[in-house]
Amino acid sequence: MTLNELSRHTAEQFTKTYGRPPRWIAAAPGRVNVIGEHTDYNDGFVLPMAIDRYTVIAAAPSNNGATKIQLRSTLGDGAISLDLTQPLKPAAKGAWSNYPVGVIAGFLARGAKPGGFDALIHSTVPLGGGLSSSAALEVSTATLLEAITGLKLDPVDKALLCQKAEHDYAGMPCGIMDQFISVMGKKDHLLLLDCRSRKPELVPMTDPTKALLIINTNVKHELTGGEYAKRRAQCEQAARILGVTSLRDATADMLVRARGRMDEVVFRRARHVISEIERTPHAAEGVRASNWPTVGQLMYASHSSLRDDYEVSCPELDAVVDIAQAIGLKGGVIGCRMTGGGFGGCAVALVAADSVAAISDRIASEYERRTKIKPTLFVSRPAAGATLLQA
Ligand code: ADP
Ligand code: MG
Repeated sequence: MTLNELSRHTAEQFTKTYGRPPRWIAAAPGRVNVIGEHTDYNDGFVLPMAIDRYTVIAAAPSNNGATKIQLRSTLGDGAISLDLTQPLKPAAKGAWSNYPVGVIAGFLARGAKPGGFDALIHSTVPLGGGLSSSAALEVSTATLLEAITGLKLDPVDKALLCQKAEHDYAGMPCGIMDQFISVMGKKDHLLLLDCRSRKPELVPMTDPTKALLIINTNVKHELTGGEYAKRRAQCEQAARILGVTSLRDATADMLVRARGRMDEVVFRRARHVISEIERTPHAAEGVRASNWPTVGQLMYASHSSLRDDYEVSCPELDAVVDIAQAIGLKGGVIGCRMTGGGFGGCAVALVAADSVAAISDRIASEYERRTKIKPTLFVSRPAAGATLLQA
């Protein structure tokens, strides 16, 4: 479905639900990270792109008072009612309304006056699939609120408001990548984001013969050991031993010299982070120069490092990368790696656009043969960030 079709569909659903057409329609995309994994909390670089999957939110002024907000989602249960004369607060953990309500709270905190409105949300970003439906929901809500209140935010401020909503309302201490790319994504561009300075840099990827294939393994291994917190602690420990504020300031040489002074596991964790922080701007350069074999090699190297040194992959993700690598350049696969936090979720492959159908068929059948699980695949070129479709 194109964004315009999606917008029309959401408007029709809105009209059915509320008995009148929407006045405003806003949209924001999900994302995939092409390279730069587990670097964000080490002040490193990430290289995401917006995907052709959007969350759309349609709204109209309220019929029953200037202080009532009603939110519905075609994917969430029930209607959420907010009373603007009362202070907003988060609902129970896990409630879908926490994301949009947190964003509304952010606008109120800046003195914006939304007034009452009814809204309906519809999305083609899979929920909980690692493609950041949560940021798409926050950023589409923020884009709607900009239109309703007339308070136009600077893109960085807008992304940070959405990140704060996820922290304070959804209870998820996420980094800045998801909200930045959903706000700032641009058609035919990746976004090289420096998580230390928060400086975003658009990287043109205009060659229409290349695309990104996203392969959802459809597994999510629930880990009881607090693996994410452990990795963060190991990174902090390595930084302390190396005498740097964060691993962003460390080099491969420094790490090798300090090897005798650190635990073997901590050494390998730091080796992943330091090498990945180096690979990411290098890959951005490769994209800029259409140097595809280099980009592909960096993606494979990223995967090996995440699998062997950071130990956040899983057999299903490894199977996808293995199958993709076996298809190889001759079959149109340039590079492939796990993407997202790991232990399941998605892999991303850089592919020749004209071979997508054959590559998808082969990955799907071979993956299912090996794991007995059906994957979900879809292709995307770098898509546009948040937009107001109707004001
Ligand atoms: P991801 O961001 O990877 O998709 P998260 O767990 O961070 O996964 O966010 C998913 C949650 O966001 C869902 O469980 C739901 O609460 C909320 N959400 C996202 N999109 C929608 C939507 N269109 N309608 C209702 N809730 C949504
Ligand atoms: Mg999320």
